[in-house]
Amino acid sequence: MTKLLNRQIANQPVTIFTLMSELARKHNAINLGQGFPDTEGPQDMVQLAANALLDGRNQYAPLTGLPELRAAVADASARFQNIPVDAESEVVVTSGATEALAASFMALIEPGDEVVLIEPLYDTYLPVVRQLGGIPRLVRLEAPDWALPREALKNAFGPRTKAIVLNTPMNPTGKVFNAEELAFIADLMRQHDSYAICDEVYEHLVFGAPHLSLMALPDMRERCIRIGSAGKSFSFTGWKVGYVTAPAPLAAVVAKAHQNLVFATAPNLQRAVAFGLNKDTAYFTQLAQEMDTKRQILSAGLARVGFGVLPCQGSYFVMADITPLANGLDDMAFSRLLTEQAGVTTIPASAFYDAQSGTPPRNLIRFAFCKREEVLIEAVARLEQWKSRQS
Ligand code: PMP
Ligand code: GLN
Repeated sequence: MTKLLNRQIANQPVTIFTLMSELARKHNAINLGQGFPDTEGPQDMVQLAANALLDGRNQYAPLTGLPELRAAVADASARFQNIPVDAESEVVVTSGATEALAASFMALIEPGDEVVLIEPLYDTYLPVVRQLGGIPRLVRLEAPDWALPREALKNAFGPRTKAIVLNTPMNPTGKVFNAEELAFIADLMRQHDSYAICDEVYEHLVFGAPHLSLMALPDMRERCIRIGSAGKSFSFTGWKVGYVTAPAPLAAVVAKAHQNLVFATAPNLQRAVAFGLNKDTAYFTQLAQEMDTKRQILSAGLARVGFGVLPCQGSYFVMADITPLANGLDDMAFSRLLTEQAGVTTIPASAFYDAQSGTPPRNLIRFAFCKREEVLIEAVARLEQWKSRQS
């Protein structure tokens, strides 16, 4: 064949998560790279999903999701974020947050529209924006505090701004945006008549600072698409059940994008997630507390090894400065070396920056702490042993 395939898709690298997970397997390393828990989520949800396979509801679910899951998403939105939404017209169930993001971008972006994105960023945003003909306007947060660069953000907005993407709690930095930062972003959105895609998959994984939704701010209700993931809220990343809440006119267009992507999501998993979202608030608080303990174990261990451990307020991830240990290696080379020589896999943080513009920092790696405590302790022990072999 001589005709070209789609170059934007073809030229995209395989995701860093797959790359590093394969490397971990090859070297039998502890995988603190790709963010997935190494324990099962609630067993009552597994049982419910298993039972649901046996009771004859295995055909297509409705396009926007099973009514019981849409109702549970709406109830959770009111309970946790004080954002009342209409289950019928303002909720769309998707196959993971990944699909929710793609469908949201499809619903908003026309060629030439500008989209404000905050670096470091999750790896699916940029390729989808570009695929749709959107023009990324990147604003970079800087370690160690990842403060919002207000002047740069202001300059990134303009008359052609269609939307900003806001990920809080943020992957990979662990930053949780505070009320003042959200108010500043909301002001810019009002001034420039912009939408926001709010990636809030880690909404329940915060360690002190509260999770605040941009959508709860004045006038933001009509401008925001809010995205959640059962993968993160229930530790079932393999289920790929996500949900979008948005004002009805916007949700209707997200649903049309969803109908072209997957049409509908597995009904048994939807039923189990509906049950999960209706759990007592204590379940969600305990999830965050357990994750916080893991964060503390890993952060303290990494600091003992000699990493420059950055603060983390939420998510599955802690970032570490490798400068004291890397002997001049960049983040990619050092991540490979740690997998091969220490038996611990991480993600080089430069993967969370636009490969087509600017120079990413090369001194940071991301560790996932959503693992059993004994695994985190073993990982730290391996890193300490590796370090003691260096001098
Ligand atoms: N957004 C962020 C910030 C993520 O970290 C992830 C993945 N873990 C996703 C979206 C995708 O979530 P899902 O697995 O539900 O597709
Ligand atoms: N969100 C996960 C992470 O950041 C990875 C998801 C994936 O592999 N697609 O590690």
